[in-house]
Amino acid sequence: MPLERALAQLLAMADATPISERETVALAAAHGRVLAEDLVAGLDLPPWPNSAMDGYAFRCADWTGTPLPVSQRIFAGQAPAPLQPGTCARIFTGAPLPAGADCVEMQENAEILGDERVRFVEPITVGQNVRPQGQETRVGELVLAAGTLLSAIELGLAASLGRAELQVARRPRVAVLSTGDELVEPGQPLGPGQIYNSNRQLLISWLTRLGCDVVDAGILPDDLDRTRARLGELREVDLILSTGGVSVGEADFLGIALREEGELALWKLAIKPGKPLTCGQFRGVPVIGLPGNPASTLVTFALLARPYLLRRLGVQDVTPLQFSVPAGFDWPRAGNRREYLRARLENGRAVIYPNQSSGVLRSAAWAQGLVEVREERTLQAGEPVVFIPLSELLG
Ligand code: AMP
Ligand code: MG
Repeated sequence: MPLERALAQLLAMADATPISERETVALAAAHGRVLAEDLVAGLDLPPWPNSAMDGYAFRCADWTGTPLPVSQRIFAGQAPAPLQPGTCARIFTGAPLPAGADCVEMQENAEILGDERVRFVEPITVGQNVRPQGQETRVGELVLAAGTLLSAIELGLAASLGRAELQVARRPRVAVLSTGDELVEPGQPLGPGQIYNSNRQLLISWLTRLGCDVVDAGILPDDLDRTRARLGELREVDLILSTGGVSVGEADFLGIALREEGELALWKLAIKPGKPLTCGQFRGVPVIGLPGNPASTLVTFALLARPYLLRRLGVQDVTPLQFSVPAGFDWPRAGNRREYLRARLENGRAVIYPNQSSGVLRSAAWAQGLVEVREERTLQAGEPVVFIPLSELLG
């Protein structure tokens, strides 16, 4: 299953089950949420022409070489009187331009004469150092469309338009389920054959950061009855996100349970890490089963589950930021699956972590991004590769 096709199917499922409930939240609580209304400017920004400099405002045509008397002083936050013809106004950055003025000369180019007159030493043009009314936005303009993921910048913009609250999509409720008899939670002693559960923490932190309400569904032993029972308890969630037990092994109880009481698609994704992926529903609740190896969990969550969740919230463009950089490594043997290598940028080139095993999460802690190497491709250092920053995927 090519990644594009798996993603297209997941997005189609997301489009069919949108999370359309909204809530109104204060700006301070809206970070990481998805805007559920069109943000339309209720005013011009800036609301009036203002000065971009500390200096002198006047009518350009009044400057003929004869020094201009200063007729008023205008600070930011003041409402100026109309400019007296043939004079200039002392003005400071952000202060409204007085009616009748059409330019500002910065104070560095002004010579103050003894009698409170000012002479300008450089040529001046209409509009110089003036920020026109509405240069950023006009009243009625669409500034942010519904479906925009809100970060500090969008919230700053909403504040500049005077908005104290925004309508956002309700938080998705996501149950995180870790399957595997070998798993033990950190803080407990480790018995023979056991390992600590890392995926639960990885996913809970990540989902929380993405604005989800996480239901911690704990560790699920490799047992069919317990699997059925646990899935049945998770009725109130928008998504059950599980890890492990999807490799069509004998302990693939998640798949059996979904097949019995829901729907199941088992994909062998043509990517590495992250081959096996389960997708379906259990008694109507959508389920995505990610592979259990931590680096596989990371890559499949980043490339498939994250865009799926964002789309359910109404985000249209779910393609992560990516750009081309020269490879800082050779890739002599072409693979038959597309590789997502944990990489970082050094001197403008992507270098990769020496151990790319899907069990090694440390590779991702070291990395700044994922380098995509297409199937059937070999590479020599210096050739371009696609780099997808992790910072964006995690945010
Ligand atoms: P599975 O898909 O269940 O066969 O798991 C594949 C590999 O990932 C095995 O080595 C598991 O021990 C490991 N694994 C599965 N789940 C987790 C988890 N939650 N934390 C750490 N490793 C895991
Ligand atoms: Mg397992």
